[in-house]
Parts: sequence; structure tokens; C-alpha cells
Amino acid sequence: MGHKKICLNCKKAFSIYNNESKEINLTCPECKSKMVLVSHRFRPPKQTDTKQWDLAKYLITNGFAYQHIHEDYKYVQYPKTMEEAVEFVLKFKSQAYIIKE
Ligand SMILES: [Zn+2]
Repeated sequence: MGHKKICLNCKKAFSIYNNESKEINLTCPECKSKMVLVSHRFRPPKQTDTKQWDLAKYLITNGFAYQHIHEDYKYVQYPKTMEEAVEFVLKFKSQAYIIKE
């Protein structure tokens, strides 16, 4: 599975290529803050779309880095609004990733 690294501060996503060394550098080249790893399925919103970035940040910090979430053996769609996201996080808590610092 591929990953992207994203800077929630700059609202930018960076692809990670296979030829990159095993140590993934998570320091943002622009603001120097620590980036987070998310699934390649994450579609970065436009930089100006702060609502969608707030939603992404909320999901990621709650352990939902766009990995597959399933219910009744089916994959669940990720929420599109903050309201849905709050419910989603509660409902699928047991499938959240534990974020390693
Ligand atoms: Zn940054």
C-alpha cells in the first residue's frame, strides 16, 4: 500500500516514491513541522478549501488516516462533512490507528 505524507500546517500533500530510502523524512520542506503519513487514497483538497482540510485533520488526529474502514465486511466511505466525521469517529473508534509519536 502506498502512502502520502501531508503537512496539515501548509495544507500540502507529498507523494512517497518507492525509491525513497526506508527512513521517511517527515519534516515539511516548507514550514519544518512534522508531517503525517496517510493512505495513498487520500485526495488532498485545494489549499484554499480550509473546511475540507479541517475535516482531514480531524479524521487523521483521531486515527483515521484514510485507511480502509469496514462495516459488515464492506468498506465504509469516508465522511464529507464535519458532522458526519464526528459520528464516524465515534462509530469506528475500534478501527482507528494508534498514532505513533
Ligand atoms: Zn508545512
